[in-house]
Amino acid sequence: MLKHALERLLRNSERNLRSSFSLSSSRIMRRRSLCTKSARAESGRERAECVVIGAGVVGLAVARELALRGKEVLVLDSAPTFGTGTSSRNSEVIHAGIYYPPHSLKAILCVRGREMLYKLCSEHDIPHKQIGKLIVATGASEIPKLNNLMNLGIQNGVNGLRMIESSEAKRMEPELQCVKALLSPVSGIVDTHSLMLSLVGEAESHGTTFSFNTTVIGAHLERNNLCLHVSDTKRLENWNGRFLLHPDLVVIPEFVVNCTGLSAPALAKRFDGLHSGVIPLAYYARGCYFTLSSTRNPPFSHLIYPIPEDGGLGVHVTVDLDGQVKFGPDVEWIKGIDDISSFLNRFEYSVCPDRAKQFYPEIRKYYPNLTDGSLEPGYAGIRPKLSGPQQSPVDFVIQGEDAHGIPGLINLFGIESPGLTSCLAIAEHIAARLSR
Ligand SMILES: Cc1cc2nc3c(=O)[nH]c(=O)nc-3n(C[C@H](O)[C@H](O)[C@H](O)COP(=O)(O)OP(=O)(O)OC[C@H]3O[C@@H](n4cnc5c(N)ncnc54)[C@H](O)[C@@H]3O)c2cc1C
Repeated sequence: MLKHALERLLRNSERNLRSSFSLSSSRIMRRRSLCTKSARAESGRERAECVVIGAGVVGLAVARELALRGKEVLVLDSAPTFGTGTSSRNSEVIHAGIYYPPHSLKAILCVRGREMLYKLCSEHDIPHKQIGKLIVATGASEIPKLNNLMNLGIQNGVNGLRMIESSEAKRMEPELQCVKALLSPVSGIVDTHSLMLSLVGEAESHGTTFSFNTTVIGAHLERNNLCLHVSDTKRLENWNGRFLLHPDLVVIPEFVVNCTGLSAPALAKRFDGLHSGVIPLAYYARGCYFTLSSTRNPPFSHLIYPIPEDGGLGVHVTVDLDGQVKFGPDVEWIKGIDDISSFLNRFEYSVCPDRAKQFYPEIRKYYPNLTDGSLEPGYAGIRPKLSGPQQSPVDFVIQGEDAHGIPGLINLFGIESPGLTSCLAIAEHIAARLSR
């Protein structure tokens, strides 16, 4: 029933717009029928068991985990395919779990998620490599900070951490300049697109249905059930703001997981009946990357990170699985955009070539041989943050009924780094909470 309703939604809007959907109608509902115990049609309203909003790496991991546990899962995403948000705009680093306060969700889920991720990658042939990482002190004043990081990592249960002298670091990485370094052998890199493709495949083979070009624009409460307002993305793209938005379909799930990344607080604010006091303030920190114009001989074989800065981990070196070297991300605090634009991912992602001027001195602190003119604009990602400039970092927020009183609703807020590393552990955590 739900399958048919969503197909109808897309067909109607297709007619209304006199335009065709490239991916949606074929890709969307083609798997298993949702004519099931939990799918009961009402007029313009459909019931579902679990709805995951957002098909980034976190939403996909959640959908897969719920599907593996026998739930009927429907994934809704405003974009034409999965992973078009932050999940394809990051460093693709498998973090060890060093930076985060002990017992925080970031620490626990990163360490657990890393172990789960390496296992999944090995079992499913997802390209990845445990290349190890050096966090470097480039002056004596940074050595206490490096010691603090080592202590944090140990408290968080990160294995194999070792402080090394500059001579040993130089033997490992001849181009590197530092006075001391913290070696993290368990850090690595992963091909995020392949990871997401694998999560989609496994979720689909366990019955998950994906509906792309499908935006959740809000919700209301009826007898303590959250009723999701669902709209066709193409209709929203043509919306001029002059008329009230009405949903094309209302979906009433037993469980809803809001995994909409940058849009999660804006979407939660549109859940009529959810107390606004529980929704954290959203901040956005854009990070740009620059690539090395000539990568025939990559200068580094490990990940190289400076001491973390306010809002990010510092302009670091990442080597991807093709040997391409990139530097970044920097931190630029930006303003939010209106709700609908954020659902449609209309954030500003262009990389201004002028920013390279600030990259050269940062990188030369640890890579003095970086030549002038060798940096080319790469891409940008935006961190979904819950703290602003000069404020202390805030933990992941995974909010269930105990926090907001609505049964079956879980909101994920502030899933910035290490969200990619943690995705499988976040999914495990959510599935456990929903089955309580
Ligand atoms: C610059 C940068 C570098 C990073 N580097 C790393 C790293 O090296 N390692 C690491 O572990 N983590 C890293 N991260 C963090 C990691 O990328 C994120 O935590 C992770 O990708 C978040 O995934 P997500 O699924 O929550 O969000 P997203 O990938 O943003 O997915 C959200 C999805 O929701 C959809 N959506 C939005 N609104 C709606 C709506 N109303 N209705 C329907 N669908 C909607 C979007 O289309 C999108 O597909 C980095 C982040 C940034 C910004």
